Amino acid sequence: MGKKPAQPPFLPTCREEMAAIGWDGLDVVLVSGDAYVDHPSFGVAIIGRYLMAQGWRVAVLPQPRHDSAADFKKLPRPRLFCGISGGNLDSVVSNYSGGGRVRDHDAYSSDGDPYFPGEKNKKNRRRPDRAGIVYASLAKNTWPGITIILGGIEASLRRFVHFDFKQEKLRGSILTDAKGDLLVYGMGELQVAEIARRLDAGKHLHAIDGTCERVKGSEVADGAVILPGWEETIKDPARFMAAEKIIEKTARHGEEKTLFQKQKSGGVIQHPPARPLTAAELDQLYALPFSRRPHPDAGEVPAWRMVRDSVTIVRGCVGNCSFCAISRHQGNRIISRSHESIIAEVKKIAAAADFNGTISDPGGPTANLYATGCKRGGCRRRDCLMPRVCPELEGNAGEMLTLLRQCRKIPGVKHVLISSGLRMELLLKSPELLKEIIRHHSPGRLKIAPEHSEAKVLSLMHKPEFRVTEDFIRAARKIGEREGIKVRFSPYLISSHPGADNAAARALAAKLEKTGLTPKTPQDFTPTPGNLATAMYYSGRAPNGKKIFVARNREERRQQRQALERLISGRDNKKRDDKKRRPRSRK
Ligand code: SF4
Repeated sequence: MGKKPAQPPFLPTCREEMAAIGWDGLDVVLVSGDAYVDHPSFGVAIIGRYLMAQGWRVAVLPQPRHDSAADFKKLPRPRLFCGISGGNLDSVVSNYSGGGRVRDHDAYSSDGDPYFPGEKNKKNRRRPDRAGIVYASLAKNTWPGITIILGGIEASLRRFVHFDFKQEKLRGSILTDAKGDLLVYGMGELQVAEIARRLDAGKHLHAIDGTCERVKGSEVADGAVILPGWEETIKDPARFMAAEKIIEKTARHGEEKTLFQKQKSGGVIQHPPARPLTAAELDQLYALPFSRRPHPDAGEVPAWRMVRDSVTIVRGCVGNCSFCAISRHQGNRIISRSHESIIAEVKKIAAAADFNGTISDPGGPTANLYATGCKRGGCRRRDCLMPRVCPELEGNAGEMLTLLRQCRKIPGVKHVLISSGLRMELLLKSPELLKEIIRHHSPGRLKIAPEHSEAKVLSLMHKPEFRVTEDFIRAARKIGEREGIKVRFSPYLISSHPGADNAAARALAAKLEKTGLTPKTPQDFTPTPGNLATAMYYSGRAPNGKKIFVARNREERRQQRQALERLISGRDNKKRDDKKRRPRSRK
C-alpha cells in the first residue's frame, strides 16, 4: 500500500469527483440506501473515513437507481471490495411504518422525498426494500466477480433467519439471499480494515471476528453452537424463539463463540464478535475530517438536520431491552470518549459559520451511561441494570457533569441540550447530575423511557418496574421546585408490545393520568428484525416458553393506542377549556 491519500472534503461519488482529487482508481466502493451525509452519525461516512485513514481510496454510491446498473457505472470497479449497506436504518423500517403503511417521508433522503426526482412509478422508491440484496445483485452485474461485503444495521440484524414485518414471514439470512461473500455485524470499523488488508495481500477472508460467512454445504465449524435452522424455525415458531435466545445471549455476554445456522441452502457461520474500539480509537475516529454536511448533490437531508450539531460521547448500552437491537449491533460494552476529544469536536461545531449556538445532543444510545463501567471488568451475566442496578456498575456522574460544564463554557455555545435517552434508575443515584440536566440541559422536556407501566409487560420488555418512573418523577419535580423550574417530561411509550392487551393499555393510561404524565402519541410496537420482542411477536410466546397475548391486527393495535390517545385528547380538551375560562389579560 503506497502513501496514504489525503482525505478530501467529501468522498467521491463519481469519476468526475475522483478526477478532481487526482484519483485514477478506487480500492473500495460503499453503496448506501441513504443520501450521502459526511457526518459521524452516518454509518457509511464513518466506515469510509476510517478506511481512508487506513490508506485506502474509498468512494460512496448513495441511493443508486435500482431499475438499472447505470448509477453503478458512474464509478470504476473497486480493486478490493464493494461494501453494501441499507442505510442508517433497516430499509424496510425506512420505507414502511410499523403497520406496514408506505412512508411518504424519508428522513434519510434528499428533501425527505422517498422517490427519485420526477419518478412516476411509486414502486421505484429511492431505497429498495431489503436494499442489501438488490444492491449486491447490481454490483455483481456491473463488476463480475467483485467481492461483496454486507454491513450496516440491516445486514447486522438480518444475519440469521429473521422476521420481516412487511412480508409478515420468516426470511433466511440476508447473506445467503444476497449471495454475499461476507457480512460484517456490529459497528464494523475493525472488520472492514482487516478485510481490506487481507484482500490487498491476496489472502482469504475466513474467520474474521465480527463477520459471518456463507457456507455452501452444511459443514459446521468445530465447536460451533448449532442454532435451530431454516427448516426447524419455519415449522415451529418456538424453534425460532430458541434460536433468537441463543443469538441474544451470545451477543449480550459477548461470548467468544462461533454460531452456525443452516439456511434454505447452505449455512451461515458467525465468528465471535470483534472487540470494541478502545476509547482512544473512538477518539481518533471522531477526530477524522468529516465535513459534517450532506454531499452537495444530496441537498437537504432531514436526518442530518436533526444530528448536525450533536456529538456522540459514548458507544454501547447495558440496558438489554427486548425490543431494542443495540446490544446485538453496537454491543453492551460501554466505551466513552475522552473529554479532550469531545471538547475538540464541540469547538469544531461551534466554529462553523452557520452554528446556531446549540449543541443538540452530547449523547449516544443512553447519554448517562457515559463514563460508567464495571468495577470487576465484566461478568457472564452482563445485565447491569436489571432487575436493578448492579452494585458492581460504577456510575461516574462526576465525569458527565464536568464534561457538560466544559461544553457550556466553549465560546459560541449558548445551549447544550441532551436529546438522547436517559436511564432514570441511574439518575436517581446521581441527583447532582439530574439537577444539572434539569437546570441547563433539558430541551424543555426531560426525555424518559418508561415504555409501559404494567409489570407483566415491563418484564417482557426487560425494563425496570414502574416504581422507578414514579420515584424519578417525584425526585425531578422536587429538584424543579427547589430550582424554581417547572419540570416537564416526554415519556416514550410502546403500545401493543407482545404481552400487552387492552386491559394493560387502559391500566397504563390510568397510571399516566395519576402521575400527571402527558404521553406523546404512543409508538406502536414494530416487529423489526433481530430482537427478542420480535421473536415473542412471531411465536406468541415469552422467552420462557409461556404463551402470551400479541396484538397483531390493525384493530387490536388501534384499541390499545386509543386508550392513550383518549388520555392525550382529554388533556388537550381540558387545556383548551382552562384557557377559555382564564380571564383575558387587559392590554
Ligand atoms: S458485574 Fe454487574 S456491572 Fe459488571 S458486567 Fe456484570 S452485571 Fe454488569
